[in-house]
Amino acid sequence: MYEGPSPVRNGRRAFLLVSNIRGGETGNIQAFKQTEVSRVCQGRVHATIADRRELAKTALTPGELIDTSIHLDESTEPVTGQDMFALTEICHDGFIELDVRDIARMLQARPGDETESLFACADRIRKRFVGDSVHIRGIIEFSNYCVRNCLYCGLRRDNHKLSRYRMTPDEILTASQNGIQSGYRTIVLQSGEDPYYSAQDIALIVEGIKSFRDVAVTLSIGERARSEYAAMRSAGADRFLLKHETADAKLYQQLHPGASLKTRVECLQNLKSLGFQVGSGFIVGLPGQDISTIAEDIALLKLLDCDMAGIGPFIPHPDTPLASYPAGDVTMTLKALAVARQALPYANFPVTTALSTLRQDGRQLALSCGGNVIMPNITPAKYRALYEIYPDSASLKDPEDGGIREIAGMLKAIGREVSTTKGDTLPKERRSIPTVDSNNHERMR
Ligand code: SAM
Ligand code: SF4
Repeated sequence: MYEGPSPVRNGRRAFLLVSNIRGGETGNIQAFKQTEVSRVCQGRVHATIADRRELAKTALTPGELIDTSIHLDESTEPVTGQDMFALTEICHDGFIELDVRDIARMLQARPGDETESLFACADRIRKRFVGDSVHIRGIIEFSNYCVRNCLYCGLRRDNHKLSRYRMTPDEILTASQNGIQSGYRTIVLQSGEDPYYSAQDIALIVEGIKSFRDVAVTLSIGERARSEYAAMRSAGADRFLLKHETADAKLYQQLHPGASLKTRVECLQNLKSLGFQVGSGFIVGLPGQDISTIAEDIALLKLLDCDMAGIGPFIPHPDTPLASYPAGDVTMTLKALAVARQALPYANFPVTTALSTLRQDGRQLALSCGGNVIMPNITPAKYRALYEIYPDSASLKDPEDGGIREIAGMLKAIGREVSTTKGDTLPKERRSIPTVDSNNHERMR
């Protein structure tokens, strides 16, 4: 497991935000108190009978934060999935951090009611913290050369069956300009780890894109020295995606010959300290992974204070050492996304292409489990099939403009909308606890 500092809870007290008393009549307040108190007591928070009586006596005023003065139960008292999800919503009203054990329990939500509760809770939290808008980022896969040899990836250095390509800076700028004209407000530049492009080359490309319009630029080009990231940031790059892939240091080493989780995390920390909005993420279903690894993955996202996270299933590629392993489980991927949304309520979570590759309705599913970003492929058609991370990528089907209009229609049909902003993550200092609408609580009862 990741051996850095542990993402422990930062408190042992639960706070309840009194936000949904309707009418303010005594009867309603009593009913509210009873429901809330019992939710707190059942939600893996241990309270003695005396505590409960004290709690029920507390005078409640809408908008007030009450200290429930209860301790989290460290025992192995059985908890139902429903209780866990009630607790996470209470956590977001207060200051209890989910720890790895909480996360692992949530990932074990059983099929049926528990899993549905988990998804519904993530959806409520998504709506409450980041709203109904979906950010659409156009991704340009500009080089499939890679110096690394990740065991799962079709772009790995030792895959000699793959024809390699590099787009010129002019081609990248033209594709970006086309994307901007189609309506994209973020351009994502992704590639294998390809030192052919110097930091200065990338910086010039970023400057070129920024000169077209006020758009955000996200880079996803792998590990570089801090000074190189600094040059890209100075040129105007706003965000950087670098998944940690797995938080299990041993597994990381096995899957990434010659690389280490420690270096990966250092890169992410460098990016954060340089002022990038930082995206990490991980693969679900890697051989050798179990639920506790996924729980560590989510805890690491939290520890890194990620602004974004991509969580997608493993898909075997025939020309890699992991060709014979099964694909990751779609439901577990959705559960991981739903739990991650609860652990990082303000973060942006893209719907991963890998999920859409395994399930035709992958986008809609992920959007209903905490997702709020779609990244259509706007790479020129002639290169697309060569960026074969895994076979039959759903992104091959995206039209030349990424299908932005079709996406707007799909979003409308599910009650969501295309964001009109660049979709930056809300800075920490501007975050406050959004109030719960009364319908949310109704649904929880
Ligand atoms: N080279 C850069 C890097 O690794 O950060 C960016 C490009 S890389 C192809 C983008 C992502 O593809 C990786 O972070 C990894 O999670 C994902 N990926 C690669 N092979 C995969 C596979 N077989 N199944 C699912 N995801 C895969
Ligand atoms: Fe290269 Fe990224 Fe694929 Fe690893 S995941 S082989 S770094 S493209």
